[in-house]
Amino acid sequence: MKRLLPRVAPVALAALLAGCATSAPNFSYTVPAQPEGASGYNANPGWATSKFAVAAANPLATDAGYQILKAGGSAIDAAIAVQMVLTLVEPQSSGIGGGAFLLHAANGKVEAFDGRETAPMAVDEKLFVGADGKPLPFYEGVVGGRSVGVPGTVKMLEMAHRQHGKLPWATLFTPAITLAENGFRVSARLGTLLKDEKYLKADPSAAAYFYKPDGAPIEAGSTLRNPALADVLRQIASGGANALLTGKVAQAIVTKVQGHPTNPGKLAMSDLAGYQAKKRDPICSDYSASSKTYLLCGMPPPSSGAIAVAQILGMLNNTPAATLGLVSGMGGVAGSVAPTPSADWLHLYTEAARLAFADRAQYLGDPDFVQPPGGSWMSLLAPSYLAERAKLIATAPGAQSMKTAKAGVPGPVKTAYAPMPEQPEFGTSHISIVDGFGNAIAMTTTIEDAFGARQMTDGGTGKAGGFLLNNELTDFSFAPQDAEGKPVANRVQPGKRPRSSMAPTLVFEKASNQLVMSGGSPGGALIIHYTAKTLYGTLNWGLNAQQAIDLPNFGSLNGPSLLEAKRFAPATVEALRARGAEVREMDMTSGLQAIQKTPTGFFGGADPRREGLVLGD
Ligand code: GLU
Repeated sequence: MKRLLPRVAPVALAALLAGCATSAPNFSYTVPAQPEGASGYNANPGWATSKFAVAAANPLATDAGYQILKAGGSAIDAAIAVQMVLTLVEPQSSGIGGGAFLLHAANGKVEAFDGRETAPMAVDEKLFVGADGKPLPFYEGVVGGRSVGVPGTVKMLEMAHRQHGKLPWATLFTPAITLAENGFRVSARLGTLLKDEKYLKADPSAAAYFYKPDGAPIEAGSTLRNPALADVLRQIASGGANALLTGKVAQAIVTKVQGHPTNPGKLAMSDLAGYQAKKRDPICSDYSASSKTYLLCGMPPPSSGAIAVAQILGMLNNTPAATLGLVSGMGGVAGSVAPTPSADWLHLYTEAARLAFADRAQYLGDPDFVQPPGGSWMSLLAPSYLAERAKLIATAPGAQSMKTAKAGVPGPVKTAYAPMPEQPEFGTSHISIVDGFGNAIAMTTTIEDAFGARQMTDGGTGKAGGFLLNNELTDFSFAPQDAEGKPVANRVQPGKRPRSSMAPTLVFEKASNQLVMSGGSPGGALIIHYTAKTLYGTLNWGLNAQQAIDLPNFGSLNGPSLLEAKRFAPATVEALRARGAEVREMDMTSGLQAIQKTPTGFFGGADPRREGLVLGD
């Protein structure tokens, strides 16, 4: 397909790249022109390509991945270039200071890479408990050093690159280093989030980088340079992940975390040096839709994403959901009468969601610390268990909602855990890539909340800018136990990974083992619903990736039924309300990206609610 971003003449590239001593001779990065991005809801056409495609949340990041693929890079090569540029241009969502999950398929063989942050060895389960013995208010936990876990993204990417990389590691850093040194245009979304941000300015490094001398936040469209990040990326380009996790950069992270004036953390040099990315068995389960059987593959625990998505879809298949099509909606901001699911279908979906979220709260946690029920995580996806659970969904016309579900018992349970109360989660970015060699990736990457812990470090470079540290530890349960003293599976423990909702997903046709789609989204616990919606839209309703992403969002976290505001016809909202559960209409800002295999190549979609873009040839 045609490039969407016009190029400027190669910007004194020789000079720029001369600084990147490790660049491969066959890759020369061209800085794209950077038109001012629009904000709000921007309808996307969807993009067809024939050989390869990359979908990411920011046009500059997508373009970096595109240039790597064009230069003969693999999907993982492109993902690394995308992630490094995202650290710079979408600092609120992900970066080298955070964690990620990556699913990789090479000609149908799926591997799951776990780059989730870990808790420092010096913390205990009371990390987020106040002096009064009660869980801290959420943002008292988030802002400062307390919430910072060991960043795992770079180590994970290094592990995956050793196995699946084609271009030299250092080459993949050229786009981000070039943009950090030349400057990049601040996007509309970053500008808007900065305007609404309350905590970032209290950090001196972040204040100097993101705010003007008069104290106002930098605006969308202004040019931002980040020499400290360029320096750190150069060190990682030549020294690998250890350049982040040991030595000067690690020392700067530790000093920042431990030296926070009011809310210090206990992260130590040994925590960073000891970090291990892990390869885990992916969660793959069968799913039947429209007379076909698919294999849905996703991240195992510590993410709850794949299990919850597959539980919801599996339970729906034990209800009349498949007989229900789409109905007319409000048309949303785009103006057309876009289709939405019907009230009857939404009832079935939100009931299945309640049941899945009850299991998630009860059982899910870091598998290195938490015993799966029934002796295996797959017990939660056993067809007989899902059929049993689905019997709890009332399916008669006009039937009432269960309102709140309790966890099921999929098999013998060794440890009696208490359910974890729902906590807020935000931030995050999703990347989907298919290359010309038969590889596909789905990677969801995060620093947790928008702008993470609101702590920026220059990595010990003494230069302006730097990168933001995650607040991933607030994905642990603040309350370590229930009123009877029963422990929560996802409580804080030293060296443990917090439970995630991230759901990078690869779909295959079961019979042929051919790739059908790569997709995923940010959005905290709602990631599970955004991803399930996109799968259902494509596999059951026959929509293309863009149409499925465009569908209004909906879900339930085992409380009210949640609907994206101004997208559902009033009659649909009222009919759902008549089922008895509270219905809440609200902003549901997904950031879905997905790429489908088509007979002629690929078709990608990006979420109109954010700034994503798909590029490919
Ligand atoms: N930290 C969250 C998780 O791992 C993601 C946050 C978000 O997407 O907003 O599930």
